[in-house]
Amino acid sequence: MTYKEMAALARTHLNPKQYGEFFSAGVVAAVLEGANGKYYTGVNIDLACGLGFCAERSAAAAMITDGETAIRRVACVGQDGKPMPPCGSCREFIRQLSPENENTEFLLCEEPLETIKLSELLPSPWQKI
Ligand SMILES: [Zn+2]
Repeated sequence: MTYKEMAALARTHLNPKQYGEFFSAGVVAAVLEGANGKYYTGVNIDLACGLGFCAERSAAAAMITDGETAIRRVACVGQDGKPMPPCGSCREFIRQLSPENENTEFLLCEEPLETIKLSELLPSPWQKI
């Protein structure tokens, strides 16, 4: 699957919805390509008390449930459908899932294609200091 196809798949999962007074989800969607070649999807979940998690971690949970921890590529899109880079928590989370994930690539822009490696986003992980 190309990055454009990954981003298009992520856009199909965008579904901003308020599930009640204290719970919303689906404003951001992500597609991860595991090292096993499978693709995993997820959406953000936001709770009023501050709990919840990002689409990348939601997709990673599905991947880990499937027994994979290494991620080759990530395409994450916001409510406007455009790619967005991972937040600091997701950078750290993905880095700790597997040492291989320092090579995980993130889609930054579809046209022209622009990606960035996790090692560039998180150049000095605490495990190496
Ligand atoms: Zn995040």
